[in-house]
Amino acid sequence: MTRVALIAHDEKKPDLIEFAQAHETQLGAYDLIATGTTGKRLIEATDLEIERKESGPLGGDLMIGSEVAAGKLDGIVFLRDPLRAQPHEPDISALLRICDVHDTALATNLASATFLIEGLAD
Ligand code: PGA
Repeated sequence: MTRVALIAHDEKKPDLIEFAQAHETQLGAYDLIATGTTGKRLIEATDLEIERKESGPLGGDLMIGSEVAAGKLDGIVFLRDPLRAQPHEPDISALLRICDVHDTALATNLASATFLIEGLAD
């Protein structure tokens, strides 16, 4: 089954929730994982089943990165806050890097997120 990770920084969580609601049917066809707080917010706002990893600052990004390294993930939607540095910036860079190493689809804004989830359906 296609496996997709969803992550959003705090300022972007409302955007990701709106995106997930708008694409709930499509996302429901995927095996979903998320960082802790993002997953909690998405579960509250949708009927999607989502496996929650640790919160980003506690290692959630690295846990998702390890799935990329293990070849288990098909794509990631990661809505980053472009205006504020995050305390766990090194972990975020590591996740972006491992996606490039493994050529794993990564969307960091809503426009590309739509392409990603539609593209994975093909
Ligand atoms: P969070 O983590 O979903 O637990 O807030 C996201 C992140 O990596 O900042």
